Amino acid sequence: MRRIYMDHNATTPLHPDVLETMRPFLTEKFGNASSIHFFGRETRVAVDEAREIVAHSLGAKPSEIFFTSGGTESDNLAIKGSVHVNGKDDHHIVSSKIEHHAVLHTCQSLEKEGFRVTYVSVDRNGMVDPDAVAEAITEHTILVTIMHANNEVGSLQPIKEIGAICREKGVSFHTDAVQSFGKIPVDVNDVNVDLLSLSGHKLYGPKGIGALYIRKGKRITPLFHGGSHERNRRAGTENVAGIVGLGKAIQIAMDSMESEAKNISELRDTLMDRLAEKIEHIHLNGHPMKRLPGTLNVSFAGIEGESIVLSLDLKGIAVSSGSACTSGALEPSHVLAAMGLSSELAQGSIRFSLGRENAKRDVDYVVQVLPEIIERLRAMSPMQAV
Ligand SMILES: *Cc1c(COP(=O)(O)O)cnc(C)c1O
Repeated sequence: MRRIYMDHNATTPLHPDVLETMRPFLTEKFGNASSIHFFGRETRVAVDEAREIVAHSLGAKPSEIFFTSGGTESDNLAIKGSVHVNGKDDHHIVSSKIEHHAVLHTCQSLEKEGFRVTYVSVDRNGMVDPDAVAEAITEHTILVTIMHANNEVGSLQPIKEIGAICREKGVSFHTDAVQSFGKIPVDVNDVNVDLLSLSGHKLYGPKGIGALYIRKGKRITPLFHGGSHERNRRAGTENVAGIVGLGKAIQIAMDSMESEAKNISELRDTLMDRLAEKIEHIHLNGHPMKRLPGTLNVSFAGIEGESIVLSLDLKGIAVSSGSACTSGALEPSHVLAAMGLSSELAQGSIRFSLGRENAKRDVDYVVQVLPEIIERLRAMSPMQAV
């Protein structure tokens, strides 16, 4: 069967050149990067080169980049690590209602420890208002954590404005840039960010590798205790192959970013326009313009997103409903709920996330099969299409 992958916000296929760059570090170049002999020195050099690539791509210094096991760990390290260094008067965090669970559940766990968290609301387009962040900051606020691009609807948050507010008020600012990094330009100085999370497998790199940018001078307590790896911020023998793969994936992404963003957003818009011609009551979720190039989240009134995902899967098309982490549980997405969608529209949502290997014929195929699926599901649905 023909298989079409349109779930790139969940994960991406490893680029073949990334695999080739990693291969020696999974075979003959196996040294521990902390060893001082030849085997260690050659992997240390590779780790340092990758660190330079990551730093360069963000406008940061290599000494500000710390490798982790992925986006989830980077988010945990940034948030728990920042709040645990401060005194007990500093007990307030500002975040938003549409964060990834790696941020949301980390904040919730800190609430159990006694921290207070303000989760600012978003508008109908899934956008945080910088003024709401400014209003939420108090004298006790130690950290603001607001994502750059939302993984479910793709909306791009005004992190530059939020960064300026945090700078002015002297509060640390973390952003989860896992979805935006490698797709659109991200510069840590342009946005005034102090901490930034990224992950390899969302940009055609390997799974289980990520990085955290920590601005020089920002103190952070480590999550793990052990060796002095990553300048005492992250103990544990370096995942050399993963680090090298991340570096290569970033290099490829930086070289192709502009043309890729253009191609992918054109495909996405064609998909939306052609579906809207053929299907009644289809709603676009997320900001119509300020959005990730490949993300298209739509709701179909009167049916369940899960049923659409399963029907598309039978035709070989991979998309998701809600975020990958919440599908399986039939709870409406916290993001769509925060945007004020009715539970009917939130339940009837699916997310296409297009990527590098998608082509026009993939869009043609989706446009060919989806209208029939929607018609059939609506005919069977006890809910009336509105
Ligand atoms: C995927 C994702 C994460 C988690 O990254 P992992 O590397 O899978 O742990 C965090 N935040 C966002 C926005 C994501 O899309």
